[in-house]
Amino acid sequence: MNKAVEQLQTVREAIVAATADAKRAPGAVTLVAVTKTFEPADIIPIIEAGQRVFGENRVQEAQGKWPGLKQQFPDIELHLIGPLQSNKAKEAVALFDCIETIDREKIAAELAKEVAKQGKAPRFYVQVNIGSEPQKAGIGPREAVAFVERCRSVHGLAIEGLMCIPPVDENPGPHFALLDKLAGEAGVERLSMGMSGDYELAIAFGATSVRVGSAIFGSR
Ligand SMILES: *Cc1c(COP(=O)(O)O)cnc(C)c1O
Repeated sequence: MNKAVEQLQTVREAIVAATADAKRAPGAVTLVAVTKTFEPADIIPIIEAGQRVFGENRVQEAQGKWPGLKQQFPDIELHLIGPLQSNKAKEAVALFDCIETIDREKIAAELAKEVAKQGKAPRFYVQVNIGSEPQKAGIGPREAVAFVERCRSVHGLAIEGLMCIPPVDENPGPHFALLDKLAGEAGVERLSMGMSGDYELAIAFGATSVRVGSAIFGSR
């Protein structure tokens, strides 16, 4: 069997186990398979193994591989999980089914404009810079709840969840707990958190989707 398909199976089993350990409903957690840097030839076996939800972190890279794959497999759901420049909002709305990285007013405004223009309705998350790291994308934790409100009231975007990437050198648990708390305050249901190294822990803290790349496809 293809190595990545084998690893996909391992990750799926670990998600099922972590979901049960957390006493959460079966199927409560969606696996977003992160395909950045990998080619369609690497991705197709994973699609054929039944995976349908994928994540990419760059609009331009995704444009190079996903339109063809989406044509071949129309029920694919593609998530943008990397920073979005406002001059790429048009392309992002055209290609992605879910944009997880809204983190500032200008992006929210551009996305709203494109949604109206293109008549498309991607799903949206707000990215929170959960560890308040100066170099990292995301709205600050203290601004996050008010920002979700403004995305709704000013820009008319139906935000369905929050996304975060905790600092690499810290225990992610407290960061996951804070994202869960902010989601409660903002009145959103979905939490995108957890990557290859910590998705089981994220599930214990309430993740509704985990973004897993290297544990499936190998190192980049
Ligand atoms: C690359 C990436 C992931 C996946 O990381 P792995 O450690 O390979 O699982 C998850 N989220 C974001 C935002 C990423 O850019």
